[in-house]
Amino acid sequence: MADIAAPAYRIFPIIPALKPGAMENVRSFVANEKIQTAIGFPGQLVEDWHDKAIAKMGELLGKYRSLRVFMDACVHCGACSDKCHYFIGTQDPKNMPVARQDLMRSVYRRYFTLPGKMFPALVGARDLTKEVLDEWYTYFWQCSECRRCSVFCPYGIDTAEITMAAREILDTVGYGQKYSNEIIGKVHRIGNNLGLPGPALADTLEGLEEDVKDATGVDVRFPLDVKGAEVLLITPSADFFAEPHIDSLIGYAKVFHATGTSWTLSSMSSEAGNFGMFIGNYDQLRAIAMRIRTAALELGVKRIVIGECGHAWRVAYSFLNTLTGVGDGADANDRFAQMLQKQLDHRYKQPSHICEFTWDMIQDERLSFDKEKNDKHIITFHDSCNVARGSRMGNYAGGQFEIPRNIIRAVANNFVEMNPATTREKTFCCGGGGGLLTDDLLELRVKGALPRMEVLQNVVDEHSVNFMATICAICKAQFTKIMPIYGYDRRMVGGVHQLVSNAILLGDK
Ligand code: SF4
Ligand code: SF4
Repeated sequence: MADIAAPAYRIFPIIPALKPGAMENVRSFVANEKIQTAIGFPGQLVEDWHDKAIAKMGELLGKYRSLRVFMDACVHCGACSDKCHYFIGTQDPKNMPVARQDLMRSVYRRYFTLPGKMFPALVGARDLTKEVLDEWYTYFWQCSECRRCSVFCPYGIDTAEITMAAREILDTVGYGQKYSNEIIGKVHRIGNNLGLPGPALADTLEGLEEDVKDATGVDVRFPLDVKGAEVLLITPSADFFAEPHIDSLIGYAKVFHATGTSWTLSSMSSEAGNFGMFIGNYDQLRAIAMRIRTAALELGVKRIVIGECGHAWRVAYSFLNTLTGVGDGADANDRFAQMLQKQLDHRYKQPSHICEFTWDMIQDERLSFDKEKNDKHIITFHDSCNVARGSRMGNYAGGQFEIPRNIIRAVANNFVEMNPATTREKTFCCGGGGGLLTDDLLELRVKGALPRMEVLQNVVDEHSVNFMATICAICKAQFTKIMPIYGYDRRMVGGVHQLVSNAILLGDK
């Protein structure tokens, strides 16, 4: 880490000079045979990888009409080219969204279009060689699937979806990424991304009860596997022990305590994150999501609430209904989905985000705060990609932007916005999302964080901001790692519920 220096700040916005090949040697580790086979992929690059890859591509083009549209619709207008934080930070032209897409588009043209089959050189079509496959691996694992580029594309082309398709093809031929596939294996084997077994989780929660009692004098519970609880909280496993994540977990528990809500965590489904989405694999996405449904059925809960995790909320908001039957859209032939629909309380949104839960309670005047407890903080808010561009909160457009900010304003006196060209739907990725939060990619993560760090520096200089709140476990982990490289204190980042925890009054309500 000491060898990686933060790039120099520039005046925003800026179109960086090109440095071709700057990141061609920055590659995340390839998964070994054990990791691959544990989740049903070939252990290593299969002999007939070329034919298998093309066949998989054909399958995905048939299955996802959007992918075919994205392959055909781009007019190379360039509107997306300077919108990716990885291009801005690394200056590698292959990290321009359009160039990243063209890695696949050129192969698509060669095998799936008539001009590409007849006159490949004239239409920029390429054979899928091993060199091209390696290039896919390198640069599709330098995309955090943040979707910022798609906001600026006049055709709405979603590079993240192309990245997911590429990763799915790579896994199919035995060329998987170590970090993501190892984590998926841990979820199946142990129940969460961090490999924290049930008894260790129980110990951790007991310890937290003691800590909160010491700090507040109040018996705030952190219940585990309680049958008949009203709320099942599914939260990222980092919340159980990583800093600053754990402070948000304490905040959720205090909200449940102060509102008299019975709740529980599940040892079987102790992970909100779902890396199945990052690798673009439907079966993994569904298998991981099904753990939530199984836990909800076993525990007999009435509500499912998701903790502070960006991509988990996207999966929950966008896919849990059709994947598992949580929320509307349960398959009429799926007996367990129908059972869950009967069990859940439909006066509430299913699933809900913890910010929706807390904001509802604030509006119902069931929570009180001493805002001065947060007066040491001058706070700004970093919108996380998957919340901002892949989900919604509340029952109105933009609720995913307003509700976390409303909570911050309800619990703290000092709140400042960053440059609006970099917040809400235009927010920059933290630099570590989409399966890139691994130290093998630290150089990419540091450089990819540059746009956010530059804009943060503006509010630090102008308003003395000293706390950046966010509602994503990956953002928290990424920022605490890379912010010291930019000269910030790692404690400058934290969760919205960390601020809630600081200010909440634990009375008898
Ligand atoms: S989805 Fe995000 S990381 Fe990927 S190309 Fe677009 S802006 Fe870059
Ligand atoms: S903005 Fe859209 S159409 Fe224009 S180059 Fe980018 S992906 Fe292609």
